[in-house]
Amino acid sequence: MSAWEAVIGLEVHAQLLTRAKLFCACSTAFGAPPNTNVCPVCLGLPGALPVPSEEAVEMAVAVALALGCRVQPRSRWARKNYFYPDLAKGYQISQFDAPLALGGALEVDGVTVRIRRVHLEEDAAKNLHGVAAGSDTLVDFNRAGVPLVEIVGEPDLRSAEQAERYLRALRETLMFARVNDGNLEEGSFRCDANVSVRPVGRSELGTRVEIKNLNSFRFVRRALQAEIRRQIGILESGGQVVHETRGYREGLDDTVPQRTKEQAHDYRYFPDPDLPELRVDEALVRRVAQRLPESAASRRARWQQTLGLTAYDAQVLTGHPAIADWFDAAVAAAEGRLGAGGPKRIANFATTELLRVVSIDGLRAHIPVSPDRVVELLELVERGTLSGSMAKDVFARMVATGRSARAIAETEGLVQLSDEAAIEAVCRQVLEAHPKELARFRAGKTNVAGFFVGQVMRQTGGRAQPDLVRRVLDRLLGA
Ligand code: ADP
Ligand code: MG
Ligand code: ZN
Repeated sequence: MSAWEAVIGLEVHAQLLTRAKLFCACSTAFGAPPNTNVCPVCLGLPGALPVPSEEAVEMAVAVALALGCRVQPRSRWARKNYFYPDLAKGYQISQFDAPLALGGALEVDGVTVRIRRVHLEEDAAKNLHGVAAGSDTLVDFNRAGVPLVEIVGEPDLRSAEQAERYLRALRETLMFARVNDGNLEEGSFRCDANVSVRPVGRSELGTRVEIKNLNSFRFVRRALQAEIRRQIGILESGGQVVHETRGYREGLDDTVPQRTKEQAHDYRYFPDPDLPELRVDEALVRRVAQRLPESAASRRARWQQTLGLTAYDAQVLTGHPAIADWFDAAVAAAEGRLGAGGPKRIANFATTELLRVVSIDGLRAHIPVSPDRVVELLELVERGTLSGSMAKDVFARMVATGRSARAIAETEGLVQLSDEAAIEAVCRQVLEAHPKELARFRAGKTNVAGFFVGQVMRQTGGRAQPDLVRRVLDRLLGA
């Protein structure tokens, strides 16, 4: 019995967040009533002519650049022919032998996964099964013609877990490029997984199986684990893996045949005679490159190297591009206002307090307090006006009322007690009210001092400056 190695290559289809479809001006808005965002072009009526969308081409170029691909100055539109009710014109406009971009890479936990190609294509319509009384299947053409990029990875992945990490990194890359909302459930980020198994040490690839339509990270991992198990079982019992498409059954945690994989020539790809070749000049590539937002990986490295953030904080703050932008804006706003270590304090505050009140919907995030307002709050803490626990209260009120930290602190008298005489009065009260504890302290149990500090903080509603309380208590207890 030999040891086996899994080989995995993923093909990802990601919807580009353009306003209009790829070859017509129809809206791409999700959730519109069925068949309202349609026209002769995306319905596939005879004689209607497609016109490529510049916006979609620019977003696809952004994808290519974010993945380090070489954008091809000339690429070609091709018809991929097949019959299915969601494809009224009988072919999908895609790219085949001359794709938009070639040869990129994605770094996944120190492993380089090569990207073979990135190309543009239109989405098909959507079949809706059993949605109306008496109907079997209806077709919604709103999705027909929506622009997709297909990203084909080389078979460089070696485990189901690594494939999941690659997919997460790819989704992050597209979201940080602001071209895709990363929604696996709604299908705007879809993955087909190819997997084979071979004896460790062999360089030829084994026969592969394709698993289609995996709509969550968990499914990708579990489906691949199940399929790898199945293939090893076949090979160990002397059998042969069949080249086919299989689907994952969650309940049974196994894969079953769907249909035999068509050979590429069955699609009878040929250049679309309605469309001239796609030209992407250097000026366009430069323009897109200039506007491309900084990647999550680059931000993590920069924050750790120049701002002293931990890997954990950097990871949490790149959980969504809007949060990363918020943090960068806060660091900029803090310049000259917060001392050294300001970025770290902002990071601490953001990962604990701020993230609790953020809500995320695809590429959009609702962050209820601006970077500038949080910096103002942290300034008040730094100056000793507010204690850390008061800052949390004030922040909750900022979220609830939309008012600034300073306004809340002023109108509600939420200013830290730093008047020594006032604090001394409270300390004396506390000592008088706890004669038993005081006796224990005098008998040598000096850790009771902490109890007194706590009581003073309670009496002052957390407003007393803890350092000052400790000093005053030391003085009174020493006497
Ligand atoms: P097709 O032309 O049928 O789509 P490709 O050669 O383009 O096939 O490969 C499609 C995907 O399958 C790519 O992501 C690639 O990495 C992956 N792949 C190809 N061969 C194998 C294999 N033997 N094992 C695992 N993955 C593979
Ligand atoms: Mg393919
Ligand atoms: Zn249309």
